[in-house]
Amino acid sequence: MTVRRLVSALLLLAGLLVGGPSALAHPDDPHVCLVRIPAGSSAESIVAQPEKMDCTSNHIDRGAGDFVARLNFHPVRPTADAPMVLRLPSLWQDEVKVHFRYADGSEAVTGFSSKTAARNLTIGAVFEVSVPVRQAALTSALIEVRGAANLRGVVLGPRLVSSEQSYLEKLLLVTIYAGFAGLALALLVYNLSLWVALRSRFLLDYCLMVIALALYTVSSSGILTILDIGLENNDRLRVNYVMLALTGITAVRFIRNFFGREIYSQSLILATKAVGWTTFLTAIAIAALSPWEMRLLDKAYFVMMSLMLVSGVPLIVLAVVRKAPYAKLFVLAWASPMIISSLRAAYGFGLVPYSILLDNSSLIALSIEALLSSIIVTSRLRQITSERDVALLGEQAARTLAATDPLTGLLNRRAFLDQAIGRRVQQRLLLIDIDHFKSVNDRLGHQQGDTVLSTIASAIDRVRPPRSLAVRLGGEEFAILLPRAQADKCTPDAILEAVRSAAMPQGLRVTVSIGFSEGMIGSEEDWKRLYRLADAALYRAKADGRDRACRATDFRDAA
Ligand code: GH3
Ligand code: MG
Ligand code: MG
Repeated sequence: MTVRRLVSALLLLAGLLVGGPSALAHPDDPHVCLVRIPAGSSAESIVAQPEKMDCTSNHIDRGAGDFVARLNFHPVRPTADAPMVLRLPSLWQDEVKVHFRYADGSEAVTGFSSKTAARNLTIGAVFEVSVPVRQAALTSALIEVRGAANLRGVVLGPRLVSSEQSYLEKLLLVTIYAGFAGLALALLVYNLSLWVALRSRFLLDYCLMVIALALYTVSSSGILTILDIGLENNDRLRVNYVMLALTGITAVRFIRNFFGREIYSQSLILATKAVGWTTFLTAIAIAALSPWEMRLLDKAYFVMMSLMLVSGVPLIVLAVVRKAPYAKLFVLAWASPMIISSLRAAYGFGLVPYSILLDNSSLIALSIEALLSSIIVTSRLRQITSERDVALLGEQAARTLAATDPLTGLLNRRAFLDQAIGRRVQQRLLLIDIDHFKSVNDRLGHQQGDTVLSTIASAIDRVRPPRSLAVRLGGEEFAILLPRAQADKCTPDAILEAVRSAAMPQGLRVTVSIGFSEGMIGSEEDWKRLYRLADAALYRAKADGRDRACRATDFRDAA
């Protein structure tokens, strides 16, 4: 239900963006009439005969070149107290000269070029020219445009507004961009640190996408020109093409890797990759070659961008159909950027009119996407980490199982030796062997014999100190290894007593004999020597009558 409501909200937003011009444009916004400056003619001769202007036909059909555009205004007189500006969205053009014309026949000329754009370009990539204050009212403006690519028009969405309104609009845009910059930075830090911790590939893809989008924003917002780092405004437009393509490519890559490659067939993966690479090459071509064949390359670019958008659809649809986790949330998160990208593609084909909101809409859409995606990323990570936890637990269980003796739960010989050899301090080894165990088996049967084995193992385990090792070396032979300094915490007598007092099946009385030795266990050789000594001592304990402990022959009391 909420999903449906959110989708309709997004559609509403889309509608607003399509109807953007009417939402933002003032009813007094001038209509643009146009005439081409023929090669060899001066602009002045054209400007002198404004009646030659064509106010009916479509700009785009006229192709690239030099033009004069006329804007007629309802007469208005800007004053020093209420100044006005003419706002012209930035397009591919070499030079623009604005001839302001007043009711008294006077004229004021001002302008900018692609090289000097930093002086006039404002945030949102809109040129702004102050209207000189005269005694007479302003009636029209003739805009001489040199080297217009005319991809979407020679002069697009010109507006005469008060300086105050322009200030407010710029303030709004600065707020949106600043908010977006903060969001992008936070997302980058958040996903990058998650990637450092978890190494899931899609996190890095997400970071790349955010970086590409941030760079595209710096470029498309005009900031790149405003910074005045020696980049011509037309070069900024070249950067736009590349960065927008990279944003799309990294987005598709993110989707592919987020759901995991198992969901998609190899051919689909290859197809989306091919579209991505072709788009990238088209972007590089237009950036490097413009204005050469710019119209053709621009069309190719928008075809590729649309294809890339379309290539994202099966990726998401398959994720939904194959019931990949979070697929539906994903659709929701990506709905707004998808709709916006589609609108932008439609704008690229000239199907949707220009609007400053549409021009900056990707920010809003991607902010929505970014916020929802960070929720999805977190959920996906929770899934991955819990999968990992389960695997770790399983691995741990397997390791424990491999290290323990199944009957008694004590360490087995191999695990014991792994931990025993290499201990840094003097150790005491207590070798423990059940007395007359063969007859226990004979009397009670093998199964009850096993019960006796595990009962004695438990008794041994109970008396040993915490950092000691207890092992079933084999058959009915056990051992305890502990630092010599802790010897008094587990004396042979304590072990003998623990076994004697353990409750055995059928009230049987079972005892053990112990042989013990002390020394370093730095190597396998050390272990063998220590074992031999303890075993010899054990033999004597047996020979002396069992149920007792004997120390090794070389045994020296700790002084
Ligand atoms: P001593 O006091 O000299 O040690 O006599 P003993 O009978 O304990 O020694 P011996 O080595 O002759 O016999 C050991 C017996 O332990 C023989 C074998 O059947 C029994 N045994 C070895 N492993 C197991 C086991 O896993 N379960 C049971 N129930 N018996 C075992
Ligand atoms: Mg034995
Ligand atoms: Mg025995």
